[in-house]
Amino acid sequence: MRGFTSFCSPLHFAPYNQFMTDNFLILIPTDPQYIPSPDRAQAANDYLLSVLTADDIVWMSSDTVTFVDQGMNFERVICPICGTELAIPDWQQMMDAAYAAHFSDLAITMPCCGANSSLNDLHYEWPAGFASFSLEAFNPVADLNDQQLQTVAEILGCPVRKIWRTL
Ligand SMILES: [Zn+2]
Repeated sequence: MRGFTSFCSPLHFAPYNQFMTDNFLILIPTDPQYIPSPDRAQAANDYLLSVLTADDIVWMSSDTVTFVDQGMNFERVICPICGTELAIPDWQQMMDAAYAAHFSDLAITMPCCGANSSLNDLHYEWPAGFASFSLEAFNPVADLNDQQLQTVAEILGCPVRKIWRTL
């Protein structure tokens, strides 16, 4: 993350800062409950540091599942079964209900087609997801290719989902 740009004059700081965005490349296990061992987490972190230039790269884990969102890259949420775009209030309602249980149960019944699904399996545009673990690169200068993603997955011992969060 960029630090405070104290070298900017006050006159220029405000408009400069207004257009600054931070980009996060976040990798999460596709299984929201999965937490790799600290050794695996650190090895994946070290691997990312070796292939990606970024302001910082860190991993973090949590006792509870959190929603790893895409920030300003949010566009819409689509039913993975029938392809219907969800009304945001419907999605919000399902998110609130799941959040009340700390996202321990992500099972949902789709309002569009009645199918059983999971909040984690919805098609988020751009991608988002639920996780107890994340590996995050702040302001990376490049993307990861499929082979690098696969390497991270092998190190962590689980398939991963890639999320771009813009703030
Ligand atoms: Zn549906």
